[in-house]
Amino acid sequence: MSAKHDSAVGEQPPNGGRKVANRTKPESRLAMVRRARRINRELAGVYPYAHPELDFRNPFELLVATVLSAQTTDLRVNQTTPALFAAYPTPEDLAAAVPEEVEEIIRPTGFFRAKTTSLIGLSIGLRDRFGGEVPSRLEDLVSLPGVGRKTAFVVLGNAFGVPGITVDTHFGRLVRRWKWTEQEDPEKVEAEIAKIFPKSEWTMLSHRVIFHGRRICHARKPACGACPIAHLCPSYGEGETDPEKAAKLLKYEKGGQPGQRLDPPPDYPGRPAQPLAPAAREAG
Ligand code: SF4
Repeated sequence: MSAKHDSAVGEQPPNGGRKVANRTKPESRLAMVRRARRINRELAGVYPYAHPELDFRNPFELLVATVLSAQTTDLRVNQTTPALFAAYPTPEDLAAAVPEEVEEIIRPTGFFRAKTTSLIGLSIGLRDRFGGEVPSRLEDLVSLPGVGRKTAFVVLGNAFGVPGITVDTHFGRLVRRWKWTEQEDPEKVEAEIAKIFPKSEWTMLSHRVIFHGRRICHARKPACGACPIAHLCPSYGEGETDPEKAAKLLKYEKGGQPGQRLDPPPDYPGRPAQPLAPAAREAG
């Protein structure tokens, strides 16, 4: 049974037995910033292995995989890109591709016609305007077809080490649950979160928050009763608070299931994902 946190002052969240912060009084900006930074530190302890969940070997592969990840899971992208990069390893190859052949390969990721147009368009841009290299400046990246700020920040943060905040659906949902911001627009969310954390934290903060959203703090049924930061969360009780029931909601390595990457980093504690089954590929 879930209970809204605001009506549960002093309630003991099942995880860790620590008290939920008293949220009947308005929280000052300073207290919110301190709490936000503590959540980030604690998430760093929970997910020391947080990383981008797209498989890639170079900036071009990360750019392509990120474009493909719109409206689908990273798992489905990771199951699709090996065939794509085997057929088109460079921007020059993809720029010269027959669209129908690319569509056939990336069909399992959905929206495959629009994504094919973006992939070929951005590859032509890379070939003709950037010497076949992925640029490392935000303004250059967003000038490529199909590349918005979110995609650009993923590439900058993970292929070039440039700090960036990635506001995807998980990030936006969690930071609103934590009352770090009330903004809905991703650019406004990004601007407000940037004021709370030093730049050096931006990329890893993004990974940790997205990891937490995928594994524990789900959109429809957050696993509050199994959440290690419940004592810092003003939305504790929005999801399942019973520890046993909450534990069953956990996903990926937290729930003992395979991760999203076929080729996870060496420190990842879970199992690698499996390649796409032929039947699933046929079904798209
Ligand atoms: S799972 Fe529940 S307690 Fe944990 S961060 Fe999400 S809403 Fe808060």
